[in-house]
Amino acid sequence: MTRAYNFNAGPAAIPLEVLEQAQAQFIDYEGAGMALMEMSHRSATYEKVNQEAQDLLRELMNIPDNYKILFLQGGASTQFAMIPMNFLSEGKAGAYIDTGAWAGKAIKEAKVIGEAVVAASTKEDSYMRTPKASEIVVPENAAYVHLTSNETIGGVQYKTFPEFANAPLIADMSSDILSRPIDVSKFGMIYAGAQKNLGPSGVTVVIVREDLIAESPKTIPAMLRYDTHAKANSLYNTPPSFAVYMVGLVLKWIKGKGGLAALEQYNLEKTALIYNVIDESNGFYVGCANQEDRSTMNITFRIKDKDEELEKKFIKESEAAGFVGLKGHRDVGGLRASTYNAVPLESCAALAQFMKEFQQRNS
Ligand SMILES: *Cc1c(COP(=O)(O)O)cnc(C)c1O
Repeated sequence: MTRAYNFNAGPAAIPLEVLEQAQAQFIDYEGAGMALMEMSHRSATYEKVNQEAQDLLRELMNIPDNYKILFLQGGASTQFAMIPMNFLSEGKAGAYIDTGAWAGKAIKEAKVIGEAVVAASTKEDSYMRTPKASEIVVPENAAYVHLTSNETIGGVQYKTFPEFANAPLIADMSSDILSRPIDVSKFGMIYAGAQKNLGPSGVTVVIVREDLIAESPKTIPAMLRYDTHAKANSLYNTPPSFAVYMVGLVLKWIKGKGGLAALEQYNLEKTALIYNVIDESNGFYVGCANQEDRSTMNITFRIKDKDEELEKKFIKESEAAGFVGLKGHRDVGGLRASTYNAVPLESCAALAQFMKEFQQRNS
């Protein structure tokens, strides 16, 4: 089998070594005579899987002891609702930084639950950048400030994070968690659907400061309360056991790669190959994000004059050459290469070469 050059946005590439290990353990998990999927989530075996994944995440991200790690279901999209449900008590507002499609969805959902205020928006600049700290206005009654660390569709990523004295920062890191070291203690909560940088779909990782989830409003159903899952160590109901297991394998793989500082260097090296082609194309390729804010996870670009015919040709020819997933999101069009942790340098080098040759053939 030849592996495709997989640039899918999500679900996305998973390291081959991880897939191979899962395959080796698939039918008979550690000699139990059954697959992990066939086992009770109350078994000692699964409890170990659950605990080891948490411990590894804590180690890799250097998560302080006063933070809980939760494995939930419903994707990052369910977090868009759970956050205002759990944190917006009477008279409080959620402050949201609007940097594009995903931030917009979080805002829309918060408005269903309570008061959501847009603390800053880069819409006027076509979401090509992140806002400067001086542009962000947080209301007095803010329960939290929410931002999207990496806009998966727009390709814009915070390189440093704003800090707020009067409200905890909550970050949707679905598409760049574990891609670089960050200081978890600067955040009240971090969450991410697994299917971009952590493994398969089906589990959402939540890292949350304990004091913030001590008392959720009593009116929320049990499954939608953070304290329910925190008290039960993510075993309140049947967890997505196979997905959590896969996340554990991905975390081991990251550790084997040398951790987050090493991965950050690798990701910068990978994306430089492609961004260099864009920058040196004399305007044939045009990046969608400002250079200083462009993402190391989702490279978004157009072909000159937003030539949709040529973009279609690019996609068609790239597919014939073994590349997958280079079509931009249907909401914005254009082209996108998602270069998550598990996408190897070789795939990026091959894409850079293809892009150069495509330009030569078409200009
Ligand atoms: C993919 C994505 C989501 C949605 O995740 P689901 O798990 O499909 O709900 C939310 N936010 C960001 C930044 C994403 O990339």
